[in-house]
Amino acid sequence: MDFLPTFMKIDGRPCLVVGGGDIAARKVGLLRAAGGAVTVVAPALCTTLTELAQQSLIQYRSGEFRADDLTDCVLVIAATDDEAVNREVSRLAHAQRIPVNVVDSPALCSFIVPSIVDRSPVQIAVSTGGVSPVLARTLRARLETMIPSTYGLLGELLEQYRERAKLTFPDVDGRRKFWEDVLSGPIVEMVFSGQAEAAREALLDAFARAEDGRPSATGEVYLVGAGPGDPDLLTFRALRLMQQADVIVHDRLVSEPVLALCRRDAERIYVGKERNYHRVPQEGINQLLVRLAKEGKRVCRLKGGDPFIFGRGGEEIDTLAEEGIPFQVVPAITAASGVSSYAGIPLTHRDYSQAVIFATGHLKDGSMNLNWTALAQPNQTVVFYMGLHGVDILCKELTAHGMPSSMPIALVQKGTTPEQKIFTGTLETMPDIVHNADIKPPTLIIVGKVVKLHEKLKWFDPQHHEQKPFSSVGGGIAGN
Ligand code: SAH
Repeated sequence: MDFLPTFMKIDGRPCLVVGGGDIAARKVGLLRAAGGAVTVVAPALCTTLTELAQQSLIQYRSGEFRADDLTDCVLVIAATDDEAVNREVSRLAHAQRIPVNVVDSPALCSFIVPSIVDRSPVQIAVSTGGVSPVLARTLRARLETMIPSTYGLLGELLEQYRERAKLTFPDVDGRRKFWEDVLSGPIVEMVFSGQAEAAREALLDAFARAEDGRPSATGEVYLVGAGPGDPDLLTFRALRLMQQADVIVHDRLVSEPVLALCRRDAERIYVGKERNYHRVPQEGINQLLVRLAKEGKRVCRLKGGDPFIFGRGGEEIDTLAEEGIPFQVVPAITAASGVSSYAGIPLTHRDYSQAVIFATGHLKDGSMNLNWTALAQPNQTVVFYMGLHGVDILCKELTAHGMPSSMPIALVQKGTTPEQKIFTGTLETMPDIVHNADIKPPTLIIVGKVVKLHEKLKWFDPQHHEQKPFSSVGGGIAGN
């Protein structure tokens, strides 16, 4: 170790920054965030620092650096572009044993400023010992994505119960074990998902159980949206929960690359729903989630797209709520928005479509029970989920209810994945296009004038890292 990592209290103490430019301004911001009373010495100030000085939020002494500027300082940062001045600041500060940092000159520093992940009261400082600030920032960016922005709230909650824990568990080992249990249980995710009161109650319950010698409470269920297929479209929260769950309960819509990101040693249970063949009926899935959570497990119920859009998420949490099992729902990019963007079809457009409707094209007893008059209105886009097997019916019904048979329609197979394929046509031609092609589910159907834009927009294809239109089959689009 070239440097000893420490955290320094500078609240209300005098700190000196030499230099008045943008870099100095950033250092001033950092010192002020920690409560430092900052004085800036420089011949001139940048706009940010001028404003701070005008509002008396910093002290400003105009002029060149002088030895007596260091008087009473608890630390000094030199951020000038004059190397001789930086050296002089460093020399004098070292002589007086005042901690000194010279921006971009590790050799002149007695302390260095790390990259910081701020989740006050939790702070994570990353340092490369001054070797590469960019490397430190890159690592920091990765940590930022992994550590929820609400991490600080967890720190605050634990702080409030520190004394209580000392009373309940006078010995250090017992106390450590208690906090370890708390931090590996549902309370943490309750805090992260904004359920502060539930978290507090659960913590009080954990104290009560420990005091009575009862075992700790049940596990928890995360109902996580996995997006339409491309793992890059997962949310930070989805990824975090996938990586900490003990059991993953997933179905057919969840893509392999997404599953590969789950915790390696997690148990995986497939409850896939093929069309007309429900491997585990919905009732069975609900009961399975309850049973696993009651065994004390952290269960990640991973669902394609968004759990609350044609995902039966509502039914699953209904059962969990009845059984008093802690759960949270993680929203995600639904097929309509993910697939349409990757296909280069904006769902709304000022000139063509002022509304968008998500409908299910699922067949029940061979028909679709939808409000066709509403769906056939002009200047809107209709997205059909689960519509492949009903494509003949939906084209026929929309035309029968007033939509022109020349209306553009697109069918996108396995959107956002490397097997994405787009079939375009009109309400008249699409049934034949579908019958003559070998189409793999899942597919999404988009009806509306916006489909025309697919031909125009040369979308960036993330799968191939080059600028090219998506593979497209069909044609005969009205207006093209
Ligand atoms: N909850 C999911 C939808 C579940 S219903 C969501 O929010 O996206 C299942 C239907 O979603 C499929 O029949 C298909 O119409 C659509 N779908 C899901 N992923 C898709 C994908 N990658 N490409 C095309 N359609 C998809």
